[in-house]
Amino acid sequence: MGMPTQKCLPLGLLQPTKIKERLLRETYSTFLSMARVALGASNSVRSRGQLHKVTYGRFKEQYGVASQLVIEATSYAWSIRKSSGCVRGIHKCIVRFDSRLFSFKRTARGNPVLSLRLNKGRVAIPISQDGAYKRFLQHLRKDWHLTSIIMKHDLSLLAVLSKEMPKPPIRLKVIGIDINSSKIAVTIIGNGKVLKQCYFGQDLSTKQFLFTERRRVLQKYRDTTSKGKAGLKLKCLSGKQRNYIRTRVWQIANEIISLANTFNANIKIERLRHIGKRKGQFNKNIRRKINRIPCVFFRHALKCVAERKSIAVSEINPRYTSQTCPRRGYTGKENWTNYSYFRCKNCGYEADRDRVASLNIALRASQSPSAMAQAPRRGASVSSLVWQDEGCERLHQITPSCKPTNSFVGN
Ligand SMILES: [Zn+2]
Repeated sequence: MGMPTQKCLPLGLLQPTKIKERLLRETYSTFLSMARVALGASNSVRSRGQLHKVTYGRFKEQYGVASQLVIEATSYAWSIRKSSGCVRGIHKCIVRFDSRLFSFKRTARGNPVLSLRLNKGRVAIPISQDGAYKRFLQHLRKDWHLTSIIMKHDLSLLAVLSKEMPKPPIRLKVIGIDINSSKIAVTIIGNGKVLKQCYFGQDLSTKQFLFTERRRVLQKYRDTTSKGKAGLKLKCLSGKQRNYIRTRVWQIANEIISLANTFNANIKIERLRHIGKRKGQFNKNIRRKINRIPCVFFRHALKCVAERKSIAVSEINPRYTSQTCPRRGYTGKENWTNYSYFRCKNCGYEADRDRVASLNIALRASQSPSAMAQAPRRGASVSSLVWQDEGCERLHQITPSCKPTNSFVGN
């Protein structure tokens, strides 16, 4: 029926006591060292089960911690064995407490506490009743299930929630989106006709350019003068830039999704190209241009918002989308007259290159009707990144090794 979707929400904690903080830190470092050893042993085994057999007894004896923590550490090592090949490669980890290792309780005064099973027993940690907590309760009311609690290297805690999302309805119209360095081109087609074409994010790329210029000036100052003022300013500016981009990217994603809603269309984007390879093809000047719209982050935002509004986002093969003539399909590199312009060598069709690409993406999608109803692929390990925005985090590496649980807080 539906598809399970996972989401991580931060949980604000009231400053734990020195002793509790030490216990959390100890648990983290034990988990990390178990994960390290298990990762080293994972080369010589063929399955997760085998890895458990090899390491379980040894860990139990050596560390004397809860069995479930041993199992989690081994599972964690197994899930990252491909992305971090060598043992020395991991210096951070994510500790997962599954349903057997945590519970929510209330103090005599009715304040919420999180009880965690740490190395040497259960410890109650008071939760701050802030905005994050409210958001967390809201999710529980909206049928999200709490499956586990995770702890990051800075001892911050996140709640992992899961929900069966209804399958997005079949929509006959398609929005093709081409994400480029300087703008995002959007084309909507339905019944074989182009209904709308527009651009997004041009302001973002302009602003990014200005930020880069100002940073370059400050960098120069910092490197030539001995006073630390320029360095401080630079730091401040970087923070401003980061915040601006994040906000703007989420806004643009929302704008595009509401467009999709208005036209009742599903979304098609290109499968992620090998960016590293693509970058190497250009010289330094163009490379600076390329990083203006954060492509990977934008895709993440788009998928998140789309999921909320139950609009399907699917990916197509990016081959030749910006070299093919949308009229007759003539394909060739000579169709590019320069970096941003498209002119068909065969029939003379002229247009902006990104516009052509977005049109081609939409056309390609509508040629294979079976692909249109296709739901977005989820849960695939895309990268080891942890995004944190709008207070929502998504972890690509968390593999649910336990049964879904029904722990609830409040109601
Ligand atoms: Zn043509």
